[in-house]
Amino acid sequence: MPAMLCVPVMVRDPASAVEDALSARDAGADVVELRIDPWYTGDSGQIEGVRRLVAGSPLPVIVTCRSAAEGGAFDGPDEALAELYEALGQGEDGPRYIDVEHAALVRSEVVRRAVEGLGEGGPGVVLSMHDTRGRPADLSRRVLAMRGEASARVLKVAFLARSPRDTLEVAELLGERDRPTIALAMGEFGLPSRVLASKLGGFLTFASLRDTSATAPGQPTVSELVDGYRFRSIGPGTLVYAVIGWPVGHSMSPAVHNAGFEAVGHDGVYLPLPVPAGEEGQAGYESLKATLPAWIEHPALGLRGASVTIPHKENLVRLAGEMGWVVESDAEAIGAANTLVVEADGQIRICNTDAEAVVAVLRDRLGERGGLEKLRVALIGAGGMARAAAWGLAEAGATVVVYNRTQERAESLAEALKGALGRASGNAKENMGKVVAMGLDALPKACADVVINTTPIGMAGGPAPEGTAAPLASMANLGAGAVVMDTVYNPVRTPLLAEAEARGLATVDGVQVFVRQAAAQFEAWTGRPAPVGLFDRVVRERLGVRG
Ligand code: NAP
Repeated sequence: MPAMLCVPVMVRDPASAVEDALSARDAGADVVELRIDPWYTGDSGQIEGVRRLVAGSPLPVIVTCRSAAEGGAFDGPDEALAELYEALGQGEDGPRYIDVEHAALVRSEVVRRAVEGLGEGGPGVVLSMHDTRGRPADLSRRVLAMRGEASARVLKVAFLARSPRDTLEVAELLGERDRPTIALAMGEFGLPSRVLASKLGGFLTFASLRDTSATAPGQPTVSELVDGYRFRSIGPGTLVYAVIGWPVGHSMSPAVHNAGFEAVGHDGVYLPLPVPAGEEGQAGYESLKATLPAWIEHPALGLRGASVTIPHKENLVRLAGEMGWVVESDAEAIGAANTLVVEADGQIRICNTDAEAVVAVLRDRLGERGGLEKLRVALIGAGGMARAAAWGLAEAGATVVVYNRTQERAESLAEALKGALGRASGNAKENMGKVVAMGLDALPKACADVVINTTPIGMAGGPAPEGTAAPLASMANLGAGAVVMDTVYNPVRTPLLAEAEARGLATVDGVQVFVRQAAAQFEAWTGRPAPVGLFDRVVRERLGVRG
């Protein structure tokens, strides 16, 4: 049974609650949860109003009066809860379900009597437990106690996830359910537990009508869940993919790959999987090690592929070494990997698609003008992206000169790649280009056919959003028809590219690089050509570029 989609409606005044319930129906929800606690104070005169709201709802209703202790607003007496439950159990057009907190049932005889009096034909009881601070230490014992309550038709367990491993706990809870069960991890780490409800056997999942109406941290909107993550097409056989990094909240990869899966009919879903960096100065290797193998090996989740980004690209190579996974030649030479592939037969391999992306988009731009052999490239920056670009370009025959603010870093990059070139790929020495290092002050005198920026200069929100990484005006030795590439993609038209265009130079923007590295990942996971035009459109739309 696919999980139902439930929209919580905060009842602050009855009129707007009815409107929200209608909007929930129009948005495609199956059920609404009327959260009456912001309005219901325990005054018995309000109960008739609740009954009218339920009767007027266009969708089946769960009535919830969430206590302050479990993240809601109700702080009235248990007698008021009991009276509410009894009243809702009477008559024909009551709610489909009533949410009853397990804690209230345990502590209050009047609540227990009211719940047990609901009977077979009345509303079903969703027996619930919430912890907004974290995973309760006694979670297993409490779930066992909830399972012992015969009056509960549905169980609900929700707690704040403290790490991506908490989704595994949700999967366990659902795997061993003895009746319909809702299990959710709240917060940014818990999103997968919400999206994957149908895959993991959950009874329902919650999604808010709008960004501002979420009733729990990490709750997606209906549109994010249904259009973005294709919630309605997820089932037990759906393959799971993720972007792993810290932070990943603003990653464009979920939008790109989910749209791609839809376009080619691949039964997959792609999620953000935030894996924390360590303490200052540490890359969070232990977090990656604690998360990634467990997600791959979990029988219900079975992660089948991942894009890996800052700060875990180097960590992935180290982890692959420890786990005995296959490290492809590009990742080995570069010392960093951005892609994980779990084959259908269980073999796991990692690779680096940034290098091939830079080479491919440059080849496309050069077109008729031929290959990259003997091409002179001025590469600015000596970080992870520079390393991938330098290796890919030199393997393709280009002469790469690395210019970096910290010259020693450029030198150690060149030194490391000198040994790596051709070794892992098996490329013959005579076809190989080379990588050398220079100080940034030598850049104006560079003789180059191609200039590539791999620093964050020009990036919105970066260290120098108005800056240009290369002084094109004083670079007199640029070859005829030089190409300027910026790997920064936000904004798409960086100050460097704008200046290059103004000087009549050919340009390649960072979106093209991003799309190509994503396309190579998509092809590795699905075995199908990536819809690159769609990828490009999705990214440019998200960055606010038209056409
Ligand atoms: P990284 O490892 O942190 O390296 C950053 C490099 O930029 C370092 O060489 C650093 O120099 C230099 N740098 C930083 N701030 C600078 C400044 N104010 N002035 C001069 N140099 C500066 O980062 P990365 O992973 O290589 O990523 C770099 C950029 O590539 C990102 O900003 C991103 O926009 C882009 N990127 C694009 C894609 C894509 O798909 N299009 C993918 C990955 C990355 P020092 O060595 O002196 O610190």
